[in-house]
Amino acid sequence: MRYRTGTIVNKKHAYRYGFSPNANCPICPCTDSALHIFSGCQHTKMRNMIIKRHNMADMLIVQALQKRQCSANQIAYTDVDSADKLSEQGLDLRNTANKTLPSWLLPKLAAHALKASSRPDAILFLPSTVCSSRVTTRNSHFHQQLAKDKKLNPNQWEVHLIEFKLCEDTRPDPQLQKAKAQHSKLIANLNRQGYREVKLHVKLVGAMETMHLQRLYRQISGGPLSGLL
Ligand SMILES: [Zn+2]
Repeated sequence: MRYRTGTIVNKKHAYRYGFSPNANCPICPCTDSALHIFSGCQHTKMRNMIIKRHNMADMLIVQALQKRQCSANQIAYTDVDSADKLSEQGLDLRNTANKTLPSWLLPKLAAHALKASSRPDAILFLPSTVCSSRVTTRNSHFHQQLAKDKKLNPNQWEVHLIEFKLCEDTRPDPQLQKAKAQHSKLIANLNRQGYREVKLHVKLVGAMETMHLQRLYRQISGGPLSGLL
């Protein structure tokens, strides 16, 4: 509640009212603020807590995607903690790349460029609805097509990039714009590769709105695809 009402004591406030000579965070080099305390501090311990929270949210998103019949086996990539943590959570992602973008995703891109590319929290492959007549039940899972042909025909697939970000509860737009800028080059490369459609889905959750995580999970695991993505 104090976060919501903007009354959490921090150096930004102290500086504004003349109680501090600067607005610097006391434990890292950044400017202090309520949002900084909850999701931006660079101090090692704070950073680890923030990353842990982000990973937990990512895990929920991947779990929810796996519950959906149409997307259960279509997760091509995750950026979620270690493989051990994933299996601890009951996530079977043996065929899914984790932390490193798979080379088959962008075969036209040089290895060093792929390594330097931005990485969303998850990448989902769905058979293109435009050319659905060419997609049969047998080859509608990209894992199966990859195993058979060692490559995909990009023209038959939609790529959905999923990015999760914590944001200010009442001012989500800066984080949305940040996510779009972060992945703009990757999106351009995927389009250049020839994929039928490339979409970025940014899931924003207010830094204090932990209830939104449960809502997000319900939305992804049960709602229509258009509502999810
Ligand atoms: Zn800090």
